[in-house]
Amino acid sequence: MESAPVDAFTKYHKIAYFSMEIGVRSDMPTYSGGLGILAGDTIKSAADLKLPVVAVTNLTKSGYFKQELDIYGRQTELPDELDPQKFMTPLRERVTVSIEGREVQVRAWLYEVKSATGGKVPILFLDTDLPENDPRDREITYSLYGGDQVYRLKQEIVLGIGGVRMLDELGFEIRKYHMNEGHSSLLTLELLKRYKRDIEEVWDERLVWDVEKVRSLCVFTTHTPVAAGHDKFTYDLVQQVMSEIIPTHAIKEFAGREHLNMTLLALNLSNYINGVAKKHGEVSKGMFPGYEINAITNGVHSYTWTCDSFKRIYDKYLPGWANEPEIFVRIGRIPDDELWEAHMEAKRILIDHVNRETQAGMNYDTFTIGFARRATAYKRADLLFTDIDRLARIGEGRLQIVYAGKAHPRDEAGKQLIQRIFEIKERLKDKIKIVFLKNYNMDLALKIVSGVDVWLNTPLRPLEASGTSGMKATHNGVPNFSVLDGWWIEGHIEGYTGWAIGPSPDVPADPARDADDLYYKLETAIIPTFYNQKNLWIRIMQNAIGKNAYYFNSHRMMRRYVTEAYIR
Ligand SMILES: *Cc1c(COP(=O)(O)O)cnc(C)c1O
Repeated sequence: MESAPVDAFTKYHKIAYFSMEIGVRSDMPTYSGGLGILAGDTIKSAADLKLPVVAVTNLTKSGYFKQELDIYGRQTELPDELDPQKFMTPLRERVTVSIEGREVQVRAWLYEVKSATGGKVPILFLDTDLPENDPRDREITYSLYGGDQVYRLKQEIVLGIGGVRMLDELGFEIRKYHMNEGHSSLLTLELLKRYKRDIEEVWDERLVWDVEKVRSLCVFTTHTPVAAGHDKFTYDLVQQVMSEIIPTHAIKEFAGREHLNMTLLALNLSNYINGVAKKHGEVSKGMFPGYEINAITNGVHSYTWTCDSFKRIYDKYLPGWANEPEIFVRIGRIPDDELWEAHMEAKRILIDHVNRETQAGMNYDTFTIGFARRATAYKRADLLFTDIDRLARIGEGRLQIVYAGKAHPRDEAGKQLIQRIFEIKERLKDKIKIVFLKNYNMDLALKIVSGVDVWLNTPLRPLEASGTSGMKATHNGVPNFSVLDGWWIEGHIEGYTGWAIGPSPDVPADPARDADDLYYKLETAIIPTFYNQKNLWIRIMQNAIGKNAYYFNSHRMMRRYVTEAYIR
């Protein structure tokens, strides 16, 4: 086996970015959705900007899953095996973590994210599938978000504790540990153990741990706006699975009396905490009173999320845009006809793909709405079907809709949403063409976000912490039509960058009103503008780029993490 190719990095990579999933490329199934792709975009921007970052995640050998759908839209899941050899180099170093009393060996695979600027960020994919491990332990890094609570805790031990030990073993000198969501927050326990004070007798147990030191090393980004979404483990389970790193009574000081709450642990041991959009920062403050919670709004990696035809016109009129998305401020330099032609090229690619996959017979000139994201209840993929007759009246002959999305294998409500879309698709087929494309992944996402005319998002407020697919759309001149939640509260200017669905974000959510507004604006503003006022439509496309893509990109986001979270 090769001698550590990671040597070259260890001298200067000081910021460790921990995430349960990291999605960097479509053909490497190491992500399930938004969280993982955000992590991948973060790493790509870090590489472009030559930031001294090293990323740590778990290898998930069975991938997420391949989605099969029958004619009724019933989903079945097939394995989507990842062969790490194809993309990564195994490192020879080993560390161990103790799980159910067994010493489990962990190794890392190295994947390098290389930027055209010359910057490089290593990603360490942790792996327990080694012949020296017990079969039960070899499976730990097998499936992403699979299994039960026990399985999840084991994965989080490997990620948090194994991750810190691996960085050490490889010679990294880390100055900040950034936890992207709470899955990795056991790393704080390993740091507490390391920074235990050398004192004989203390009157207060807490003084044994150099909490200030650990806090000064940790940054925590929370992504979940509902309390039920945070990982929690009973202390019985913790004692059964995890060996003592620090005593349980001490863990309770930081992670909660009743349960080991991964979010609470991260909150108590980080000196910078943020939500992923301004609204989400406020919602998090309400959920966790007493903590100082900041907000850094998410962004997407501009180069990754721009389709070829737009890359060409950006290169021609806005050179340097990919590493300096602020240049989008000069979007007005691109002539209207070239902007429109770039859009039509992307739209033809999508429609051809749709027609090949589904024989739906969609056409290039019909107004097309896109909706693709994880199929889960709060995203309300069926809000558009609240009043089917009204939808048919508004859209007959002048609307087509492209859907995609996977439901988590255990999310029954999400699976039923997909079936509902199939049912309506059949019912409306003589009036409105609707398709559902299977196997939503990064490649398909780029095709859809760039190839439709409007990007629709209908989450139930305030459950969309940020949302990122709408930001991808704006990089391709596609305006958003969305509920005012997450990033869209910050990006929306009515009729200028796109359109809002429903009332302002400080009024309680009201599904009936959202649906009514959705139909009303489609009928009176959006569809008429598309067909009858092409110049105005192109102005809105320009604003999507010049106002939204200009700001909602991961280069801006990373610069803010550096100045606000890392340099403290
Ligand atoms: C961007 C992306 C997501 C996240 O989209 P949201 O709108 O934030 O839910 C999920 N899956 C894939 C494949 C993506 O590309």
